[in-house]
Amino acid sequence: MFPVVDPNLPIIDPKFYGEAGISAIMTNAYLLKRGRPGQPPKDVHRTLDFKGTVATDSGAYQILEYGHVGVKPAEIVAYQEKIDTDIGVILDFPTGFHSDARRAGWTVDETVRRADEALKRIKRKDILWVGPVQGGIHIKEVARSALEMGKRPFSIYALGSPTELMEAQRFDVLVDMIVAAKKGLPHSRPLHLFGAGHPAMFPFIVALGCDMFDSAAYALYARTGRYLTSDGTQELTEIEEFSCMCRICDRTTPGEMRRLDPQEREQLLSKHNLLACFSELRRIREAIRNGHLWDLLEHRTYANPAFRKFLAKIIQHSPFLEQFTPTVKPRGISHFGEASDHRPEIARFSVRRSRVPIEGRKAVVLIPGRWRRPYHEDPRNLPIVSKLANRPNVSICFYTIPFGPVPMELDETFPLAQTESYDSHDPITYQQRAREVAAWLKRLSPKQTFLVSEGEYGLAIEKELSAVTPLLKIIRIQLKGSKPDRTVGTIIQRLR
Ligand SMILES: [Zn+2]
Repeated sequence: MFPVVDPNLPIIDPKFYGEAGISAIMTNAYLLKRGRPGQPPKDVHRTLDFKGTVATDSGAYQILEYGHVGVKPAEIVAYQEKIDTDIGVILDFPTGFHSDARRAGWTVDETVRRADEALKRIKRKDILWVGPVQGGIHIKEVARSALEMGKRPFSIYALGSPTELMEAQRFDVLVDMIVAAKKGLPHSRPLHLFGAGHPAMFPFIVALGCDMFDSAAYALYARTGRYLTSDGTQELTEIEEFSCMCRICDRTTPGEMRRLDPQEREQLLSKHNLLACFSELRRIREAIRNGHLWDLLEHRTYANPAFRKFLAKIIQHSPFLEQFTPTVKPRGISHFGEASDHRPEIARFSVRRSRVPIEGRKAVVLIPGRWRRPYHEDPRNLPIVSKLANRPNVSICFYTIPFGPVPMELDETFPLAQTESYDSHDPITYQQRAREVAAWLKRLSPKQTFLVSEGEYGLAIEKELSAVTPLLKIIRIQLKGSKPDRTVGTIIQRLR
């Protein structure tokens, strides 16, 4: 994340970035130029007194604000080269929030035209040039823009997120925009999201494939006395104790901070806000390393109802996310409930199950899949499975809470054995899973069906199955003191 720095009004002492391990910042080349009329261009690192990576925006955002900027596309490219920026942005034409589809189309074409012009003018190949994707909230235009820009040799692509969209919490539209951009752009090059905003939403945009972003929220929120946390925003006036123990919060209390003069307060709040953003980034990276990013998304939906909508929209793109999810992960996953059904690993399991070859006219034996995994190694299942597994006319399937029906063939694939879940004994969940089991069975069109029915879940399956399969043999077992040898004996006796 690049903290956005106002080149003419820096709030934070640049030394702080070094101390906090912040290695890249972003500023605005247009504002830099405008703030120094008549002065020759100077190394931006020296201007900002910052030795790390400096990215410069081109002033395109100011077009949205003022309708135009007093600088030409070629001029701002040359200026960024002269100030020795590390990452430069061409002067695109932002679509904004209020354009209709026709206007959005025009901004896409104009940005492509400007991109071609800029690419001709660029002399410094050591600068990473950013190609912005436009289209605003018009998803078809975003897709077209991504395809066109993706054909051009930019090192980084970027998507403009209209500020109004964020302010109105229209995260659903943002999701569609990012997915449309990702689908059109080369996956080998990073995608930057302009104006990413609040740290609470970072995990969502990372999950969607944004590799980098900038944010001015830390400073904007500080200006109005707002304290950022990963779960939301607090008003400084209402905080009794800081939950954070960063170097700022550890040394002062909310009361002391309130009594500071406004400028000093803004500075301290900005620093905390910035650290809160970077702390969230650490959390995200760690979640990725452990394969737990989705868990973080689900967890975050409890912070703000708007994030439920965010996740619900991401879930609609679950098949797309699934394509880029590793086949195996270093650790298991958690199944918390309905939202987890759509996490990429579980979505993948459903796809895999649908590809299990069908050998019809067999006897299908449905056995409870409990917490013990692999399901067939459960001591209450093993005697049954070991006597049936090698019979050519028998198919074994476990009925489980996190995955619904699990054919024996998939019992040892990731993430089945590594999934943590819990049985809430919720009749609706049982019923929903029972329907999945029935649908699976229907697909197998078995000659006979044996259901080893246990508990309420078993009863729910009995009810569903009686509608789909006429030759159903139910063997009810007790939750405690089951006799697997007797169960398998009954099955073998009745096998045809
Ligand atoms: Zn803090």
